[in-house]
Amino acid sequence: MKINENHLNLKESYLFPLVASKVAAYQERHPGEKIIKLSIGDVTLPLAPVIIEAMHRAVDDMSKGASFKGYGPDATRYGYPNLIDSVAAAYARKGVSLGREEIFISDGAKCDLGNILDIFSEDNVVLIPDPVYPAYVDANIMAGRKILFSCATEENGFLPMPNDEIKADIIYICSPNNPTGAVYTKEQLRAWVAYARSNDAVILFDAAYEHFVSDPALPRSIFEVEGAKECAIEISSYSKTAGFTGVRCGYTVVPKELERGGVSLNRLWARRQTTKFNGVSYITQMGAAAVFTEEGERQIAANIAYYRENAKMIAGCLDALGIWYTGGKNSPYLWMKCPEGMTSWQFFDYLLENAKVVGTPGSGFGRSGEGFFRLTAFGTHENTAEACRRITELLGNAKS
Ligand code: PLP
Repeated sequence: MKINENHLNLKESYLFPLVASKVAAYQERHPGEKIIKLSIGDVTLPLAPVIIEAMHRAVDDMSKGASFKGYGPDATRYGYPNLIDSVAAAYARKGVSLGREEIFISDGAKCDLGNILDIFSEDNVVLIPDPVYPAYVDANIMAGRKILFSCATEENGFLPMPNDEIKADIIYICSPNNPTGAVYTKEQLRAWVAYARSNDAVILFDAAYEHFVSDPALPRSIFEVEGAKECAIEISSYSKTAGFTGVRCGYTVVPKELERGGVSLNRLWARRQTTKFNGVSYITQMGAAAVFTEEGERQIAANIAYYRENAKMIAGCLDALGIWYTGGKNSPYLWMKCPEGMTSWQFFDYLLENAKVVGTPGSGFGRSGEGFFRLTAFGTHENTAEACRRITELLGNAKS
């Protein structure tokens, strides 16, 4: 027996453990001091009432023989038709028409962002933005795939564009981006679609944060770009949209038009999922189906507005200090340049020691993240306001 030796090439994930151990060490040295975490990547508000009510009803269904549900329906790969239809209706509102067979209900985006690789050859070269959500890189290292990076920098606004000299087969795009909060315009996505089409590549578009896009001119789906259905798969989630990080539900769209080597990728993914996946619980799916109802949309909009307000507070603080950043307007993340040429970890220590505020060092998301720092809007208004006051006092005084 031989193990998959590709796993030995994975780097130890030190970012969040190191952040936690530095915070714990500071707290031990300063018991009673209030530390504020602008590093939270998880949602904090509870599920909207409309979702809870739908889940309660589904639990009741499970208690009666007539409405009890076992495995999900085979015909729709274990997704319940009312949920699939609500996803399709949400796409229709973005001007994207999808059939039921193109929407696969998942247990969240992270699983599908890695699992989708099963349908691609290990010889494919993958192009991943740097910095980015670390799961893309690790999933491809596990598969032994060659990885190229498209560097996001201050110069390109942390939105790297295609380079015709680079030949890639699989392209990850995350917009709005984690960690940078940067969002591609339709024009920019058009360039990626054109690149993918001319290189016979497939784009894996991570739309986990699409509901944070408030500017109507910005795209929330790759399929808003003409021609994308022939070269892209979209992976999305209810996690950040509706607080499902613990409930677990998402969806992946594999268009019927998407073929490579004369083979339908939709067919390959359907076969993969019905072999290695057995669906998402009925109770969860009924909760998710409530998200895109009229009342559901209204209630989740209120939660997102709460986080947006925090992002606006942080953006206002950085603007007043004259600090360069991306994100915060159409994203829960703000990606700031560390002041005075500090490295990401130097700034982490400086902020913790002097303002008792915690963020996430940008270098932990990739080499191009060095010198940058991620702040998030997932805290409470009170803590966010207090963190902004402390940052302003510290960095404002350092300047004057
Ligand atoms: N994609 C991005 C860019 C993320 O930041 C995250 C989680 O933070 C995920 C996917 C994972 O989403 P899910 O909870 O649906 O697995």
